[in-house]
Amino acid sequence: MHIAIIGCGQLARMLALAGIPMGLKFSFIAQAEEDSRCVEGLGSIVRWQPGKSTECLYHELGRPDRITAENEQANTSLLNGLQAYCPIHPNPQAFSICQDRHREKQLLESLDIPCADYIVCQGNDSHLDKLSLSAVAKSCRGGYDGKKQWVLKRRQDVESFMRQANREHYIVEQWVPFDREVSQISVRDINGTIFHYPLTENQHQQGILRQSMAPAIEIPEKIISAAHDYISRILAELDYVGVMAMECFALNDRLLVNELAPRVHNSGHWTQSGSATCQFENHLRAISELPLGSTKSLGITGMVNLIGTEKPPLNALTIESSLHWYDKIVRPGRKLGHINILSEDYHSLLQQMRSLHLGRG
Ligand code: AMP
Repeated sequence: MHIAIIGCGQLARMLALAGIPMGLKFSFIAQAEEDSRCVEGLGSIVRWQPGKSTECLYHELGRPDRITAENEQANTSLLNGLQAYCPIHPNPQAFSICQDRHREKQLLESLDIPCADYIVCQGNDSHLDKLSLSAVAKSCRGGYDGKKQWVLKRRQDVESFMRQANREHYIVEQWVPFDREVSQISVRDINGTIFHYPLTENQHQQGILRQSMAPAIEIPEKIISAAHDYISRILAELDYVGVMAMECFALNDRLLVNELAPRVHNSGHWTQSGSATCQFENHLRAISELPLGSTKSLGITGMVNLIGTEKPPLNALTIESSLHWYDKIVRPGRKLGHINILSEDYHSLLQQMRSLHLGRG
């Protein structure tokens, strides 16, 4: 089985690293200028830019059996074109919805799934004047890790947003005074069977995921069953095959969906150490039409992102931790690797996670 992955970042790398032991072969589709260091040595890398024929691309890739993507911003005309040659999972419709925040909100609303109240900017500023603050303006496309977002706390923030941004492609969302941020990672196979990983608790700083812990501590049963119900309905509605991540705000015993990712996700990296089958392997199993693997957790796992870290922090390794280094060009603020810690109790896990942050200053 040969799988082509659109994208050459760390998610593509970890997918290939999970599939190689199963005898799967990989190739990668890179955009003209895309850095492909993460996947070098893991399969052939073919460059693509709009205008190049999909037939030619498909043959240059070595005629893969399945195509998937590591990023929801995958070009939809490329996905639609490649569909003529082999199955694409998740399907192009899922990408086209999840790459646009407004379409994603419309999907949630159509399924009666709660999310933060919002308005759509349509080049007319009058309704922004009446906005109750705080709020956050988000670009409908291309914003990740808090990029292309404006936190609007005071009237001056609204005025500055109105002066500077191209508002026609923004939604403005009500600020949610959440208690905790959680994500649900689930996988659906071609027959519609769904397996859920335990709910993960996430901590972000300036919009970037810093650390995750799973299973999340003392989460009301109501929140867990809402997460399973919401993601199951989304996966079924999209006739989705593969892993999906649903990022949410938990507020008392309510769950509001913030964002969907039609792919493996940073908040599921803990599954590499803490689950019977990691998210990467389960995504590959689903898209290859193989039986899904168990999503049972093996203990309590923490994941700490290495952001802007210059070298692999080998000295930080302990008996309970493992290091994943992505081999990317080092830049401040960039995710360059992560450490997973599989522990026996929450107290010791939290202590180890804290010491990793302190160790990096
Ligand atoms: P996003 O790109 O939508 O995932 O947002 C990145 C992070 O910004 C989230 O994980 C939250 O920490 C924060 N954030 C985004 N939207 C909201 C909101 N409506 N209310 C409160 N915090 C938010």
